[in-house]
Amino acid sequence: MVERRICGRCVLPESQPDITLNEAGICSVCDAYDRMQASSGARPPLETDFVRMLKKYRGKGDYDCLVMCSGGKDSTSALYYMKTRYKLNPLAFTFDHGFETDEAMANVRRAVEKLDVDYITYRSTFIHDMIRKLLSSGSRAVICHLCSIWYMDLTFKVAARFKIPIIIAGWTKGQSTRQEVMSKCACSIEAPEYRSMATATLEFLKQLRDDPKYHDFPGSMEEVLKRARKRHKSIVLSPHWFLPYDTETYVETIQRELDWDYPKLSYPGKSTNCALNFVSVYNSMRFYGFTHYHVEMSKHIREGLMTRDEALKLLEIDFDEHLLNDILKPLGYTFPAD
Ligand SMILES: [Zn+2]
Repeated sequence: MVERRICGRCVLPESQPDITLNEAGICSVCDAYDRMQASSGARPPLETDFVRMLKKYRGKGDYDCLVMCSGGKDSTSALYYMKTRYKLNPLAFTFDHGFETDEAMANVRRAVEKLDVDYITYRSTFIHDMIRKLLSSGSRAVICHLCSIWYMDLTFKVAARFKIPIIIAGWTKGQSTRQEVMSKCACSIEAPEYRSMATATLEFLKQLRDDPKYHDFPGSMEEVLKRARKRHKSIVLSPHWFLPYDTETYVETIQRELDWDYPKLSYPGKSTNCALNFVSVYNSMRFYGFTHYHVEMSKHIREGLMTRDEALKLLEIDFDEHLLNDILKPLGYTFPAD
């Protein structure tokens, strides 16, 4: 792996031509952020904005909201707040591509039981062949991006099936901020920090289309949203964009109220992700020298939600190829030794 210079303010490495460092060692993304802040007078979203939106859609469908539950701290607390703080009638939804960890699934089960909310699990190994293709072709596409295109399409379909007006995701402030920028969170070629990753992902999806099996697979997150708008209008929101709580506060709450547990092994530290995430991270580090978590945490640092040292600690790689090969066993794939 090539040693890269890292921005002195966030955690993005120099990555020509998309991310450059100035003489002061600050990256072009931080620079652009400062310029945008200076020119926009926009206020941060407030909880009253969220309550107003919920009021508008409450009681319009079979359920008030569909909550995407991965078993992680962010989505579990999102479910908790929708039910207890906003008194909505949620349907919890977990998508499992066969790589969800037992710990994550157990977190979701305890939460839905304690909160007494209806719950659907969708398990499918549809994506296995796609991941195998990606790995053996050496494509630089980002596994997490392909997967999120798949599960967002699925989530919109489930929302349409139950006529649910609001989809609740556990996205934190750095992950996305508005419905219209949601598509840019995973696959936007426009954001310089995602440009190389997004280009590779879109290219891979384009090649995939030649295979009849994937003829109907969305070609991008933008296409997912376009299809969703035609099917049934649901908006995607996260309570974390509006709530004043920091992560420690809501983790403490769900640990106490829902018996929520941190997984033993995670990347980034203190998160809950599916096992495939480790493979995605490993590839991103190999191909780009950073991951989408570096992008998200850099945003958190700029917004004052996290320190640079905290981010660097959470982003330390604490796993090796043995773990990856163990994870990939169901695909019959072994990582070539470096
Ligand atoms: Zn920076």
